[in-house]
Amino acid sequence: GVAYTGRVLYREARLSRMKTDFVSLVSHELRTPVTSIRMFIETLALGRVQDPAQTQEVLRLLTQETERLSTLIERVLDWSRIESGRKEYHPETMPVSEVVETAVAAFRAQRLEGDLKLTVQVPEPPPDVHVDRGAIAGAVLNLLQNAYKYSREDKRIALTVKATKRWVDLTVEDHGVGIARRDHRRIFERFYRVDNLLTRRTEGSGLGLAIARRIVEAHGGYITLQSELGKGSRFTIQLPVEKA
Ligand code: ADP
Repeated sequence: GVAYTGRVLYREARLSRMKTDFVSLVSHELRTPVTSIRMFIETLALGRVQDPAQTQEVLRLLTQETERLSTLIERVLDWSRIESGRKEYHPETMPVSEVVETAVAAFRAQRLEGDLKLTVQVPEPPPDVHVDRGAIAGAVLNLLQNAYKYSREDKRIALTVKATKRWVDLTVEDHGVGIARRDHRRIFERFYRVDNLLTRRTEGSGLGLAIARRIVEAHGGYITLQSELGKGSRFTIQLPVEKA
């Protein structure tokens, strides 16, 4: 009886913590784009912008904010599908280069400002992996986005694939702010964000790495981290090689 009550209490406490995390995420991250969207619509509705070029600019910002909002909502939904076991994977055998190309194309499509220097290295011939392309490419994309977000001026990012007999390693390396030892584990937890000036200024949900880890583990792989504060980070997604 006591053990049972304990378990129930523990579950309730966990649930209520999840709700608080969720509420704080919603209030910070969802509110900002919605506020801007309302402001831009108001600007247009009141006929404050006369110049067609300016109207175009407001519409562009409106599109950008709406996209931010849908990305965030997608992320929250993705997480809830994973947590509730409703996430479905459709794995296929393919050369790892296909996954890399999908992720890199999506990353480049974001037309990030600042001089980004991305180098990509894949062994020839590329090893095969058995993966849900969208899911794994999404996890790699998340690492690339983080490498970009958490770098200051030095935006050199390297995506390198290495293969051994049993594993294929996809490594994303940056020269950004780095991660203190004590945070190495916690950044993979949902909603966890390192508290510093840069994270406060960059948007994020703290869900990206939690989702990436779950996806990689669902493929029988691992995600690991080497990083030093102030020097940069190196995240590696390790996937089992698919034998021909
Ligand atoms: P988000 O980027 O949305 O906050 P993530 O789950 O992707 O969420 O990352 C969690 C936290 O880990 C980030 O808030 C950041 O503090 C830290 N982090 C992730 N990637 C890097 C990186 N490449 N360099 C430094 N810090 C990072």
